[in-house]
Amino acid sequence: MEEKIRALQAQAAAAIEKAANSLEELDGIRVKFLGKKGELTGILRGMGAVAAEERPKVGKIVNEARAQLEELIAQKNAELKTRALEQKLAHEKIDVTLPGRIQPVGHLHPLTLTLERIKKIFMNMGFSVEEGPEIEQDYYNFEALNLPKDHPARDMQDSFYITEDILMRSQTSPVQARTMERNAKAGMANKPIRMIAPGRVYRRDEYDASHSPMFTQVEGLVVDEGISLADLKGTLELFLREIFGEKVGVRFRPSFFPFTEPSAEVDISCVMCHGQGCSACKGTGWMEILGAGMVHPHVLEMSGYDPAKVSGYAFGLGVERITMLAYGVDDLRLFYDNDARFLKQF
Ligand SMILES: [Zn+2]
Repeated sequence: MEEKIRALQAQAAAAIEKAANSLEELDGIRVKFLGKKGELTGILRGMGAVAAEERPKVGKIVNEARAQLEELIAQKNAELKTRALEQKLAHEKIDVTLPGRIQPVGHLHPLTLTLERIKKIFMNMGFSVEEGPEIEQDYYNFEALNLPKDHPARDMQDSFYITEDILMRSQTSPVQARTMERNAKAGMANKPIRMIAPGRVYRRDEYDASHSPMFTQVEGLVVDEGISLADLKGTLELFLREIFGEKVGVRFRPSFFPFTEPSAEVDISCVMCHGQGCSACKGTGWMEILGAGMVHPHVLEMSGYDPAKVSGYAFGLGVERITMLAYGVDDLRLFYDNDARFLKQF
């Protein structure tokens, strides 16, 4: 019996010594020899078969063997834990000399790029940039611009009303009316104005390749003594050549807007065929680019300016349209989809 215990003890000690790989392996050995159904425990259970006088001696040997094995396991356990920690630390060591992860940085949206360009061109010509509310009173959006209630031209700007008198502005022209009115109320009626008003505008419209219920507009207003159609023409031609190149053709066609008289649609030579005629310009060689005209005397008057003393011109353009033509984009919706594959190209 004693030999059997000694052999078992030696076998277990050797196994513990060899358990170099993991704490799980060591635990397996512990269960095998010292667990409830373990081999050494089995000997204690079988003590009934041992002669009564032998029992204390055998019990002592088993207990000694057990104590020795438990100590070996505890030592090995500590050793394995230390080694695991060392390995973990070595593995997770931070190498501060490695290059950092570069965060991808985006760039300005194509519409913003165009708007910044437009602003820069006009600011270089001495224009200021004015802003106003996107939720506007009917008075500033229509009435102060010579569009009284029931005026048929209101239909062209079918709008989103919040109440009967408040709407999402359908143009940025109300900023012009507000600027003139502010000057007049401050006792500076007829004070010269040279401004552009950029911003989002809203109209009840389709959403397709060339329409959107929300788009970006830049409206301009110049008021001073002796401002004429020649000033309007010179300014817009300079602007369009800055955007589309020196060689672009520019023409003015008579048109109608309630807030200007005379009014004009301004065309540029087709950016696709350069005036030869193609499907993009429907064979005409021209593309409509903006609307303009001399400020209607009644509009000046309503904002407190004196049309007998000053005159002015105004124009309005769509930033989406200019961006589409300048970059050759054929679908307006691409600007709002925020597809990175599209946006990365600018
Ligand atoms: Zn063309």
